[in-house]
Amino acid sequence: MSLIDIGANLAHESFAADFDAVLSRARTAGVDAIIVTGSCAASNEQVLAFAQASRAASRSRDQPRLYATAGLHPHHAADWNDALAARIATLAQAPEVVALGECGLDYFRDLSPRPEQRAAFIAQLELAIAANKPVFLHQRDAHADFIAILRDYRPHLRDAVVHCFTDTAAACADYLQLDCHIGITGWICDERRGSHLNEVARMIPAERLLIETDAPYLLPRTLRPKPKDRRNEPAYLPAVLEAIATARGESPAQVATSTTANARRVFALPQ
Ligand SMILES: [Zn+2]
Repeated sequence: MSLIDIGANLAHESFAADFDAVLSRARTAGVDAIIVTGSCAASNEQVLAFAQASRAASRSRDQPRLYATAGLHPHHAADWNDALAARIATLAQAPEVVALGECGLDYFRDLSPRPEQRAAFIAQLELAIAANKPVFLHQRDAHADFIAILRDYRPHLRDAVVHCFTDTAAACADYLQLDCHIGITGWICDERRGSHLNEVARMIPAERLLIETDAPYLLPRTLRPKPKDRRNEPAYLPAVLEAIATARGESPAQVATSTTANARRVFALPQ
């Protein structure tokens, strides 16, 4: 079985001490590639360095191949400025950077003012169009504003991935109508707040479905035994795969095959 984790925050400080071991465990679990999320000025540079090192070592088979995104998370939208925009535009030209983002709107935590979130989101959609790369999108509690903006830009965007989808089936239907791909995380393994994602997982056409851990966040609650440090990592992606397979009435192997093919196509990864 070959899996691709389309969203892992490996620049997070919690991975600094055992980075290589994390990657080796992921490979052992069947994860052949990871799209490492860039979310701010500093992490964008870090994840590109990871992806470049991974490319240089591509003959080594004991670690997954790493790719990068470059963008500004809505939490950090207040940091948007011309210099960062120019840097993200440059990063977007790198072959290892396979998507713009993560970018979008987060009205759940509102860590940046909403007008600044919208401005940074729109600017990054324009950069993605200019670079002809897909966008890696984050939306929480902001569906109405988010879909209104995305609707305007979607015809010009090469492709769009709504990552870590946690919203309602109706919101999912809106994104599918815009021909978006949907990333499902271990949120689906959470019986307290994620059970609606079983219905969502069933409604997503096989060719639109992607899987991700969003590590170190969102440790799947179905994991046994539970890791003591509560940190999620790409090696736990099979727990997400199994929950989705159960929800869809498919085998894990079927879901692995379709989601891996989708990730390779959307992010234009080599076979
Ligand atoms: Zn996110």
